[in-house]
Amino acid sequence: MSKNENKIRIIPLGGLGEIGKNMLIIQQNDEILVIDAGLMFPTDEMLGIDFVIPDISYLLSQKEKVRGILLTHGHEDHIGALPYILKDLNVPVYGTPLTLGLVERKLEEYSIRANLHSIVVGERFKIGSFVIESFRQTHSIPDSVGYAIETEVGLIVLSGDFKLDQNPIDGKPTDFSKLAELRGRGVLALICDTTNVEQAGITPSESTVKGTFENIFSQAKGRIFLVTFASNFHRIQQAIDVAMKYHRKIAIAGKSLINNIEVARKLGYLHLPDEMIINIRDVNHLSPEKVLVLSTGSQGEPYSALVLLTNNSYKQLALNPTDTVVLATTPIPGNEVMVSRLVDQLFRKGLEVIYGESAGVHVSGHAAQEEIKMLINILKPKFLIPYHGEYRHLVIFKKLAQSLGYPQENIKILENGYVLELTGDKMTIVDKVDAGNVYVDGLGVGDVGNIVLKERRKLAEDGVVVVSLLLDQSTGLILEGPEIISKGFVFEKESDDLFEMARQKVIKLFQDLAKNNKSKVDKKTLLKETLENFFYQEIRRKPILIPILWEI
Ligand SMILES: [Zn+2]
Ligand SMILES: [Zn+2]
Repeated sequence: MSKNENKIRIIPLGGLGEIGKNMLIIQQNDEILVIDAGLMFPTDEMLGIDFVIPDISYLLSQKEKVRGILLTHGHEDHIGALPYILKDLNVPVYGTPLTLGLVERKLEEYSIRANLHSIVVGERFKIGSFVIESFRQTHSIPDSVGYAIETEVGLIVLSGDFKLDQNPIDGKPTDFSKLAELRGRGVLALICDTTNVEQAGITPSESTVKGTFENIFSQAKGRIFLVTFASNFHRIQQAIDVAMKYHRKIAIAGKSLINNIEVARKLGYLHLPDEMIINIRDVNHLSPEKVLVLSTGSQGEPYSALVLLTNNSYKQLALNPTDTVVLATTPIPGNEVMVSRLVDQLFRKGLEVIYGESAGVHVSGHAAQEEIKMLINILKPKFLIPYHGEYRHLVIFKKLAQSLGYPQENIKILENGYVLELTGDKMTIVDKVDAGNVYVDGLGVGDVGNIVLKERRKLAEDGVVVVSLLLDQSTGLILEGPEIISKGFVFEKESDDLFEMARQKVIKLFQDLAKNNKSKVDKKTLLKETLENFFYQEIRRKPILIPILWEI
């Protein structure tokens, strides 16, 4: 068979039209390679949902073809769904040492055993018939890689999450020589991170944060509480280095941070000498200017250490007005409200609060326009597939690529579930598979569907009304009741008239039914609909209505 007759399929199961739950499939003949298995944090309207994972029913329908899962880095939007997915699809997982270290810790929590294969960055390896090479990328977590995958139609390159940081904290910049070598071999398609494509120019280096930390540490009179993503070891390292310089001991608050720091120290990705660490209980024994507390809570999560501290409900420690709080982070889309509430509460306590990108304590981990162009120009792929972005990011990426001279038919905007067929000279969308959201709620997976979510939204918006009554089976008339109670609907004390009218409506309903001898009708449904219509007509609200009906 000539090269042109071969074809492969690329199917994104998540990560398009959203930031989160990244998962992409490359299918060649009877073999499937999965790249990443991430989760997404819920948006405001997903009430009571802990997080969202990709729908893998397509993979489960051809389990025997799946050769393995390849991980680009250790962020939750790339590894967070693994515990749930491995339960149904226990295939080998490949990644760099730090990524697998974080995965291992996560799987332990869920008591899941997995077949983890550590890769050496830059070395070639095989998964099924796919020949794969990883290359170093810089991002907001160490040990991030992109992948070059040899397929029957040509070389497919995945950027992974990346920026082109020329001064990375770990001294390991993106591997430009490998990228140039890949270009020499000819790249058929690049699947590219578009998260930060709206930003012109170049994303500042992670190392720029250190200068701001220096300023803060040199001026703070009291204790410093520093909050960042629990996996941003580059930033944590910079905080540690500056703390050492200013003779501050370090306490760690929050389970995820304690766990992650332990993993990163053990694997050599974080340099934190034992003598620098103090127990959180001993913070009060040191003078305030000798203390740095690294804390969780960068997203304003309800039970995180910083939020508990802010609410005075953290057991071992309390905030006081001489403290400085540094939020070296930015809200993940969807968490803006929680974070802004937290920042407000901190200001209310009279603390010194330093937060966000404009204060210089945060930089993005994703490439801006000039870096994306540079990656495209180095690799010179024939085809481009924007990935890891909201829909607008994908479109802006397309325009950016067109400005580099790419014809629009060589850039394909996909949606989750689209099946893209790729030959040596053509990209075609040929099919669509299931790729919706699977909601994880506490320990349950997928048992909360859209109907339950809709009910929760209704409950939150319009409340609930319960109507109960006792019927005489022989006459069909009401013996007791109707009693109407409500929660979150209207202020009952001021709505006596409304509820009295509703009661009369119900009494009338059953009188009419009895008169017309309609004993066969579904009384419960009728009661429900009557009151729903009544409340909607009177006050334009649609509460959840629960009719309780006894007959004797
Ligand atoms: Zn990432
Ligand atoms: Zn990501």
